[in-house]
Amino acid sequence: MIIHKPTTLEEAARLLAADDDAQCIAGGATLVAMMNSGVVEPRTLISLGGIDGLNAITGATDRTVTIGATAKHSTVAAHDAFTGAQSIVGLAAGKIAHPPIRNMGTIGGSLAVADPATDYPTALLAAGAAFDVVGPDGSRTIAVDDFFTGFLSTALATGELIRSVELPAGPENAVAVYDKISKIDGDIAILSVAVVMVMADGRCSYLRIAVGGCGPTPFRSPQAEEELIGSELSGTDLDIAADLTVAASDPMNDVRATADYRRRVLPGVVRRALGFARQLTEDE
Ligand SMILES: Cc1cc2nc3c(=O)[nH]c(=O)nc-3n(C[C@H](O)[C@H](O)[C@H](O)COP(=O)(O)OP(=O)(O)OC[C@H]3O[C@@H](n4cnc5c(N)ncnc54)[C@H](O)[C@@H]3O)c2cc1C
Repeated sequence: MIIHKPTTLEEAARLLAADDDAQCIAGGATLVAMMNSGVVEPRTLISLGGIDGLNAITGATDRTVTIGATAKHSTVAAHDAFTGAQSIVGLAAGKIAHPPIRNMGTIGGSLAVADPATDYPTALLAAGAAFDVVGPDGSRTIAVDDFFTGFLSTALATGELIRSVELPAGPENAVAVYDKISKIDGDIAILSVAVVMVMADGRCSYLRIAVGGCGPTPFRSPQAEEELIGSELSGTDLDIAADLTVAASDPMNDVRATADYRRRVLPGVVRRALGFARQLTEDE
């Protein structure tokens, strides 16, 4: 096996594009497990571990935050400068697996795998993130709404690598809730719900609801969001939003749960997450 250790992401992208049999490796939490079980057998590995600064989390004066692709889940979970909507990313990172995996896996690796039941994709959809990606022909930005294109697939072209996750400042006074249902603590989710909410004068003025584990990609529930914006978030409002979210879902059977189970559990989790978010706005 050939192992490259490039010092820039541009060099990594060139190496990746030049070799059909190459894979880049970040934390190795998923890739090494796949190699051990023979699912993939790359001839060449391109390590991202030698690229200076790729693991940094930086904030700008306009309150936007940039998370480098090789930032570990534990670093993101411990970051204390997220504000408002951004805090959902730290909440989700803290619910990934358990400490050994959180100290190994990276945000870029998690996004590239694009498992719809994993924690970052759902949280980043609610946060309205974008991804800075680098390929052999240059760099571009992909909005989170366009990034997850199908089950385990993304908008990344051949040879493209994620450089960073860009978090907008988000609306003033936003609160964030990330609710994850799993078989046992530390397992990948059966389903998860991410909510970013603002209340103004007793009515919901901003809302993003994202769901993971209930379709081939994480998805938003725009009809539920529209229904609730302008409302007082009464019990009836939350019931309607929960039903609309289930209608937007397309869950499947897998080792963790049946599609039917997911359809039955999702409304309660949506109501709970929305109710908790509303409570947080009152505590602000
Ligand atoms: C036991 C276990 C439990 C887990 N539980 C959870 C959980 O509860 N929640 C959760 O969300 N996740 C969970 N995961 C997944 C974990 O978060 C992984 O860390 C993550 O999926 C992959 O990150 P990595 O850095 O280890 O990527 P790697 O394993 O190094 O790479 C995975 C893939 O991503 C590609 N890749 C890596 N970095 C980039 C980049 N910058 N740009 C483009 N492609 C890239 C690689 O080429 C490879 O194809 C679990 C994993 C394990 C092994």
